[in-house]
Amino acid sequence: MSAVSGPQAAAIDFSAFRDPGLARDLIARIRGAVGNRSINLMEVCGTHTMSIGRFGFRSVMPAGLRLLSGPGCPVCVTANRDIDRAIAIARIEGVTIATFGDMMRVPGSTSSLAAEKAAGRDVRIVYSPLDALRIAEDEPGRQVVFVSVGFETTTPAIAACLLDAAERNLANFSMLCANKLTPPALRAIADDPQTRIDGFILPGHVSTITGLAPYRFLVDEFGLPGAVTGFEPVDILASIELLVRMIIDGTPDIVNAYRRGVNADGNPTARALTEQVFETVGATWRGLGELCASGLRIREEYACYDAQRRFDVHVEPTQEPRGCRCGDVLRGRIAPDTCPLFGHACTPEHPVGPCMVSSEGSCAAYHRYRV
Ligand code: SF4
Repeated sequence: MSAVSGPQAAAIDFSAFRDPGLARDLIARIRGAVGNRSINLMEVCGTHTMSIGRFGFRSVMPAGLRLLSGPGCPVCVTANRDIDRAIAIARIEGVTIATFGDMMRVPGSTSSLAAEKAAGRDVRIVYSPLDALRIAEDEPGRQVVFVSVGFETTTPAIAACLLDAAERNLANFSMLCANKLTPPALRAIADDPQTRIDGFILPGHVSTITGLAPYRFLVDEFGLPGAVTGFEPVDILASIELLVRMIIDGTPDIVNAYRRGVNADGNPTARALTEQVFETVGATWRGLGELCASGLRIREEYACYDAQRRFDVHVEPTQEPRGCRCGDVLRGRIAPDTCPLFGHACTPEHPVGPCMVSSEGSCAAYHRYRV
C-alpha cells in the first residue's frame, strides 16, 4: 500500500493547508492536467462535501471535472425502515429515545422523531452515546434507547459506551443500531453501470480507524484510484490533483494524502473495540439497497442491550418521500440541484428528504453554498 511519495509529495507542502497561493497553484495544475478530458471524482465523506461547497471548489474546477457527492452522510443513508422502527419504539409507553440532532427531522414513512416529540413522546437530542447512558442512570424508571447511526469513525465510542453500560449492569439502557461500514458502499458504487466514477476522494475520518487496506479492492477489482484526504483546501486540491494524475497515467493506487491524521494501518485498538461488541451483517442503505456485510449488529453476548431485540415492534412496509431523489443523489447518479424539488418544495427549512436535513447532506451543502 503506497503513501504519497516521490515527486508529487515533494511538490506539496502539507503544512500550508490554507495557503491561497498554493491552492491557486494546485487549481492551475488540475486545470492543466484535465484539459478537455472528462473525469468524475466522488467525495465519499459528508464533511468533504461541506468543505468542497464552502471553499467553492466545484466552480473553479475545469469543465470536464465533476465532483460528485457520495453516501458519506450517515443520517442520509439510514433506511426508512430503521427510522420507522425508532419511531415505533418511541411510541411505547415509558420509552425515552435519545439521538443526534440530525436524526430528529429525518422523515420516516409517515412521521419523524421530531413529529413524535411534538406529539408528546419523550425524544431527546444528545451529543454522544454517553449522554444517553447518563439519562438511563438518572431516570431508572424509563427505558432509554440510543438511536445509533454512523460509520467506522464513531462506532468504537458507541461500542465503549455499550461495554460501560454492561459493566454497570444498566438494565434500562439499549441501542437501536443502524451503524454502517464504508467499503461495501464504495463497492456498490464502483460496480454501478449508471454511475461512472473515475476515482474516489476517500474519507479522512473513517480512514483513521480503517487504515488503507479496506480500499484496496477499488484498484484490484475496478482499476480505480482513491486518495485518503484531509479537510483543508490544500488537502482536497492536492488529492484531486493526485487522482487526476493517476487516472491520466493509468496508474491507479490507494494513496494516503492525509498522513498527519491517518496511519496506513488505521487504529487497530478502536477496531478491536468495535469487533468485541458488533458483528457484521447485511444492511439496507437508502439509495444503495441491501448490501452484504455492510452493517453492524450487537453481538449475542450483549443482546440485552439491543433495542431491536428488546422491543418487538411492528414496522409497516416503508414509503420513500414522494418525488425525493435522495437515493440517486447518494449514488452519485444526479447532482442535488437537478432534483425537481431542490430549493422549491425542498429546502433546509422544509426538507423533503434526509439529504436536505442533515448538516452533512449533499442537498443541504448545495443549498447552503449554492454550488
Ligand atoms: S432536494 Fe430534497 S427531495 Fe430532492 S433529493 Fe435532495 S432531499 Fe430529496
